[in-house]
Amino acid sequence: MSALEIHVFLCRKDNIGVLVHAEDGTTAAIDAPDADAVLAALDVTGWSLTHILVTHHHGDHTAGNLELKDKTGCRIIGPRGEAARIPGIDVDVDDGDSFVLGGHRVEVIGTPGHTMGHVTYFMPDDRAAFVGDTLFVMGCGRVLEGNYEMMWHSLCRIASLPRDTRIYCGHDYTIANARFGLSIEPDNALLRHRLEDAEQRTADGRITVPTVLEQELQTNVFLRPHNFGTRTRLGMGAVADWRVFGEMRDRKNKS
Ligand SMILES: [Zn+2]
Repeated sequence: MSALEIHVFLCRKDNIGVLVHAEDGTTAAIDAPDADAVLAALDVTGWSLTHILVTHHHGDHTAGNLELKDKTGCRIIGPRGEAARIPGIDVDVDDGDSFVLGGHRVEVIGTPGHTMGHVTYFMPDDRAAFVGDTLFVMGCGRVLEGNYEMMWHSLCRIASLPRDTRIYCGHDYTIANARFGLSIEPDNALLRHRLEDAEQRTADGRITVPTVLEQELQTNVFLRPHNFGTRTRLGMGAVADWRVFGEMRDRKNKS
């Protein structure tokens, strides 16, 4: 199988737009934050939109759905639990489902927490995961509808994917996330290096997405609640990982 092509672009203010293009011409947008931005990206790439894969119902991920469907005739796939809130949805999917997109397998992983129906799309043969607002580069999404235990479980589902999986997330909050991470793990040299790298990329007008799971496992404090130094710093002993995760998420909310 030849490689899937993936085009990443910034839209709205800090949303990440993603186009996935298969060799047979199939082209999917991961979420549709802004119709004009997606159309401009299609123009740049020369690709024709055939699908939108929606991760969750928030407006900054679905605002472009109807206009893009109207202009391109694309099919919209989204999470079953939020189907009523996703404009133009044609096909609903849920945890454990899989389908084929332009000859490439897509697995649906339920990742509730940010929203209750949130899903992640994982393409195992291409080692790519589209995680919406669940995991960010060195950070994670706010827990708006679910609870911390649920969100932690969702992060664990992503963390258990193959380590060379490229992670495409819904926002570029990388620098703020890395700075917060260093307040939790000040001695994490790789995290410090990645902050410097993100600052340089951002200064150059480049995007910090995608990331690779292996790097996240080493530098994303939200995936590392088992870390002994973190527990000591937070004054938390032998409690469940999700409680340490929740404490960090609380502190990030206030930072
Ligand atoms: Zn969201």
